[in-house]
Amino acid sequence: MDDWVHRFCTELGNDFFCEVDKDFIKDYSNLVGLEEEVIQFEQALDIILDKHGYSGAEAISSKIPNGLIQTTGNDKSLNKTAEKLYSLIHARFILSDRGCKKMLYKYLQGDFGHCPRVLCRNSNVLPIGMSDKPGEETVKVYCPRCNEVYFPRLLKHSYVDGAGFGRSFPHMFFMVFPEYRPLKSTEKYTPRLHGFKIHPSAYTMPVKVKRSKVSTYPVRLNGSSHQRVNESLL
Ligand SMILES: [Zn+2]
Repeated sequence: MDDWVHRFCTELGNDFFCEVDKDFIKDYSNLVGLEEEVIQFEQALDIILDKHGYSGAEAISSKIPNGLIQTTGNDKSLNKTAEKLYSLIHARFILSDRGCKKMLYKYLQGDFGHCPRVLCRNSNVLPIGMSDKPGEETVKVYCPRCNEVYFPRLLKHSYVDGAGFGRSFPHMFFMVFPEYRPLKSTEKYTPRLHGFKIHPSAYTMPVKVKRSKVSTYPVRLNGSSHQRVNESLL
């Protein structure tokens, strides 16, 4: 099955996305309000649904006489619009029962990565958006063990729009599947110096280093002449 949705989800960096069911996309009640968010809504929707006998970048490209495919700037722009629309539909889909199940499969496989905090012991994470508006924040990952949000580890995810997942997704996910929520991490890192715990007051006592503000020392230039150079030490 090599349709637009499948190709989008297998593009570099898009592996956090799951494939939204076509039935969900075709149900207009799931798309209410998105016309205002996305210009050329109808055309973008047609691309996602592989209508007009074409799909994706090569589908909206035009053939030039020598048989090569040529993609115009306008085509690229329309494809970008389709990607934006798909992201917004995806954010709604993963809040549905069916969408949560698809994301559960990816979560259990560790497709979203693991918490970078050492004491979370490689706990699986979920994607999250820090904003529901497209173009405002890139995707982050949420760790259910430490309840913290991090930047994704891999560079390929640093350009993915967080609005494709939304702010509510991980929290809805664990409401639907409470049995998969890991126990909260109670371990805390303890700073030590030579094996001894450091008292908190150690950081509040300023270390005073007495330095002379101006020092003067002789410098020999050209082997014979002598100068005295002042240097300010801060
Ligand atoms: Zn964590």
